[in-house]
Amino acid sequence: MSIEKLARKNIQNLKPYVAASYINSTDTALLNANESAFGEQYELVLQAYNRYPEGQPSELIKRYAQYAGVLAENILVTRGSDEGIELLMKVFCESSDKIIYCPPTFVMYRIAAETLGIQAQSIPLDENLQVDVAKIEQALDGVKLIYVCNPNNPTGNLTSTVDKIETLLKIAQEKSIVVVDEAYIEFANTVSVINLLKKYPNLIILRTLSKAFGLAGLRCGFTLASPNIISLLIKSVAPYPVPTPVAAIAEMALTSEGVKITQRNVEKLISLRNSLIEQLKQCSCIKKVFNSDANFILVTFFSDKVISYLANQNIMIRDQTGQLGEEICARITVGTMDDNEKLIKALMLFN
Ligand SMILES: *Cc1c(COP(=O)(O)O)cnc(C)c1O
Repeated sequence: MSIEKLARKNIQNLKPYVAASYINSTDTALLNANESAFGEQYELVLQAYNRYPEGQPSELIKRYAQYAGVLAENILVTRGSDEGIELLMKVFCESSDKIIYCPPTFVMYRIAAETLGIQAQSIPLDENLQVDVAKIEQALDGVKLIYVCNPNNPTGNLTSTVDKIETLLKIAQEKSIVVVDEAYIEFANTVSVINLLKKYPNLIILRTLSKAFGLAGLRCGFTLASPNIISLLIKSVAPYPVPTPVAAIAEMALTSEGVKITQRNVEKLISLRNSLIEQLKQCSCIKKVFNSDANFILVTFFSDKVISYLANQNIMIRDQTGQLGEEICARITVGTMDDNEKLIKALMLFN
């Protein structure tokens, strides 16, 4: 008997998440993981670590609450928002319950569900890449969680307006929870749905320091919800999910000075994004450039050779072929000015 047979059936059958390959090289343009092109350096004071950290670090929560405009009791800190995605399923879904997700979107919703043995029902975005509220309404039987990614990964667009999320919250009331993943909200030309938290007890918002704050290596995310939901989540989150140094660095990033630095970097990235979009539109190997409200851009290519051609020149972008029907497509993270220029030069020379 092979040892694999001891694993749960759904894990044996699971198609795992393939993370962007880890490359530690300064001459590679890493435009494949939606990380911030800008990173600040943080210095920790000398400290002993023989004590466990605070389960939910109160100073960090206070600072994120102030940043987000909510109360401390609306916040749970997790190991990246990826942990939040899965924790919600653990807390709300029996094995007979379902979640809804709206592809093309972040694959972790489906993978977390499959890992836990929960059915993930796909309600694709409509032809304008918008969340299909009517179809979701028809599919709500047995659904506990509806995951909406806004702005959406990998398409980069806003899949819902605030009004549309509110409609969804009303439709779902008393039945299902709407989870809005706002990992890229800082880059978007819209407001957050945070103001709906007071009115709708079935709303949960996922946030992270991995993107706009340039702290993907830190692994720090936030789940925002009503205090009742936060209490439920605290019952089942791992003990001490936030290591002491993680909380310390996150606190530094969330001082008013830290937030200002992030806001400046976001403005720079938005301007780099907008000029990169215009330049990509000039590249003859590119069929379509999608608009973006995030720090990345989805494109379709005429040839399936472009992605490996770029990789051979140390320019990494993320293959998304399969996400948009038959199209050959890729997601390009907005990089530094230098990396973006390197990319455009290479694309111009492709034939
Ligand atoms: C990057 C990303 C996350 C955040 O992941 P972390 O675990 O916080 O690093 C969440 N949702 C989406 C859609 C993302 O692209």
